[in-house]
Amino acid sequence: MSDSGSAVARVRAEISEVERRMRSLNARFDAIVAGSEFTTDDDEHDPEGSTIAFERAQAVGLLADARRELDDLTAALTRIDNGAYGICTICGAQIAAERLDALPAATRCIECSVRVDR
Ligand SMILES: [Zn+2]
Repeated sequence: MSDSGSAVARVRAEISEVERRMRSLNARFDAIVAGSEFTTDDDEHDPEGSTIAFERAQAVGLLADARRELDDLTAALTRIDNGAYGICTICGAQIAAERLDALPAATRCIECSVRVDR
């Protein structure tokens, strides 16, 4: 039922989405570091001003998240190659299709991910 062609497409789409996010975060980070104010889309100007340090920390955190997602997705591609994609790494059960739709990089079935809280 799970045809690996569409899984690859899903994961690849997700990867390019994360890469796009990382590029914009990097640009934002550079802008913050440079002290310049040409933030384009998410420019929230409150007069109190979130400090530059705060914005920088936030950008760093978001970048770290994105990088982790990218790692997970890359690992998912490897699992697709191995034929291990969509199989729970803990109990070996097939991961529900809806779960993979929502989380293409999921490595655990819903029961195991509830049990093994990361
Ligand atoms: Zn499981």
